[in-house]
Amino acid sequence: MSISELVQVSPELDAWMRETRRHLHMNPELSLQENNTSRLVSGHLKELGIKHRTGVGGDGRSLFMDADELKAAGITPGPTTGGTGILGIIEGRKPGKVLLIRADMDALPIDEQNDVPYKSTKPGVMHACGHDLHTTILMGVAEVLNGLRDQFDGTVKLMFQPAEEGPGGAVAMINDKILEDPNVDAALALHVGVGIRAGQIALRAGPVNAAADTLKIVVRGVGGHAARPQAAVDTMVVAAHILIALQTIVSREVDPFQPAVVTIGALHGGVAGNVIPASAEMNGTVRTHSPEVRDLIERRIREMVPTLAKAMRAEADVIYLRGYPTMRNDEAMVDVVRAAATEVIGADNVFTREPGMAGEDLAFVAERVPTCMFGLGVADPERDIIYPPHHPRFDADEDALACGVKVMVASALKYLNS
Ligand SMILES: [Zn+2]
Ligand SMILES: [Zn+2]
Repeated sequence: MSISELVQVSPELDAWMRETRRHLHMNPELSLQENNTSRLVSGHLKELGIKHRTGVGGDGRSLFMDADELKAAGITPGPTTGGTGILGIIEGRKPGKVLLIRADMDALPIDEQNDVPYKSTKPGVMHACGHDLHTTILMGVAEVLNGLRDQFDGTVKLMFQPAEEGPGGAVAMINDKILEDPNVDAALALHVGVGIRAGQIALRAGPVNAAADTLKIVVRGVGGHAARPQAAVDTMVVAAHILIALQTIVSREVDPFQPAVVTIGALHGGVAGNVIPASAEMNGTVRTHSPEVRDLIERRIREMVPTLAKAMRAEADVIYLRGYPTMRNDEAMVDVVRAAATEVIGADNVFTREPGMAGEDLAFVAERVPTCMFGLGVADPERDIIYPPHHPRFDADEDALACGVKVMVASALKYLNS
């Protein structure tokens, strides 16, 4: 039988997925709090008779960031996860390659602005990144692949992870040995996007997401009366100069053909117009694709900021926290997914995507095994479903659920049987 004949999403499964996605959408859970979502996933796997381990990564092990650096940044590291990670295992007809398929389960601290029957019931919490769809699709993939156990060699590991939006639930699960016993050979994942419609996917080899680092700068001067600047060291002026100078790193020091972003998103200092504040604080993010550019920008920020402050009689501390690394798609895995998708949804529905500068913690998996994360179209402009992930009006055309399952299952079969 051909892959497109084998890989079917029944009307019953499609209806179940739509209902399940809406249930998750109405009941979103923040990072490290995915308890009910995790219970629902475990219940579904149990019903299907799929072996799985719950509480994966939930032992409070420290995350990828250095504890001292976090402390300096004023961040109190909590336990790695609330123990909501799940690892399921489906074994094929005989031992062979091991493929990991991943879905993230957490929602965002966003107040949903959609007026839909399945709107979030939790004020200030929303599945605005589509992880409700990701989780639902992987449950669907589990069901279909479990029914096709006699059609593939090897093993599929199902990774339902917490805390993709931070602080990196994938790391907690890797630390809990999900890539071992048996060793994972390759990984697959998808992420929803509104650049294309439901029924379509987009992918590319190479970098698809950026390394996402966090920057904090504290400027210390001498406070005083606003009318006597000569007796003070004005941290507001120093901070303003630092902010502008930081913009010259990307524009003057980084190769124009290398993607890089330095954004200061918060600048705080002072409380009154007639007082010079003794300190000011800036928070920002640095996004890069190449490790060399990442090193360059970190080094230049660390050199530039204290020197500039000193030139203006102030002092400044730099706290630079390295976040998720660059997410890189493996060329051979991209070819597998492209070929599989062409068979089940048609070549007209398979597009090449552009690289982006958002962060993605699947990068920690992609650093260890060849990985492909493809973009799953969810847009439906006629119904105003056009807003990007992390937008309070983000929504998805649920036709994408069946498409996601088909492409994922077909890719798994193609990889495992090749
Ligand atoms: Zn997100
Ligand atoms: Zn996401």
